[in-house]
Amino acid sequence: MFGKINKYFNNLLDLFFPNICVACQTALAGNEQYVCTACLSGLPYTNFWNHTENPIEKIFWGRVVIESAAALVFFEKNSHFQEILHHLKYRGKSELGVLLGRIYGSKIKQSILAEADIIVPVPLHKSREQKRGFNQSERVAEGLGKSLNIPVVANAAERMVATKTQTSKKRFDRWLNVAGVFNITRPEKFIGKHILVVDDVITTGATSESFMNELLKIPGVKVSFVALASA
Ligand SMILES: [Zn+2]
Repeated sequence: MFGKINKYFNNLLDLFFPNICVACQTALAGNEQYVCTACLSGLPYTNFWNHTENPIEKIFWGRVVIESAAALVFFEKNSHFQEILHHLKYRGKSELGVLLGRIYGSKIKQSILAEADIIVPVPLHKSREQKRGFNQSERVAEGLGKSLNIPVVANAAERMVATKTQTSKKRFDRWLNVAGVFNITRPEKFIGKHILVVDDVITTGATSESFMNELLKIPGVKVSFVALASA
């Protein structure tokens, strides 16, 4: 009930006050879009891109061979970032993905991550992408690509299975749940490339692991990984 009223209220806010920050609800300046500068600069950035053997790289140790990995921010409940992510994923604000991708790009410019040849978002299952209207990771990839001047390849792989939410499963079950989920439809696009794989939130890494291992079957491929947030 309360949630419904809240949603209704938020939609009304959107209608009458389109130029307020999605995170803190203060008025945006003319040069700001969706999120105010204070909220953006105050996000809990991980700086993992400056550190080898960071916690995101460690997630993949012994599971998939990666060159480098990072997350942009630490995910915290009831945070400004959670509000931003919610608007990106569930309220159709796909431009927020591009915005975060651009910020991400400016942060990692000097790191190994920026040495990738192409940027590839983790595919969403068609049904989910249709429902949402876009793949949020693809929008982040777009921003990264623009910022780093690296091409995005988003149409050469697909997700075959719509995996259910995995929060209640154990690690091995989660792995089973995502094994063989991805199909590389145009492997020739990836041959010999260092691929920067993009996901939104990394929890166990099982989904990204499955996707990257599929990519690594292609001759000459190396992978790096970036997530928006580390849960
Ligand atoms: Zn704000």
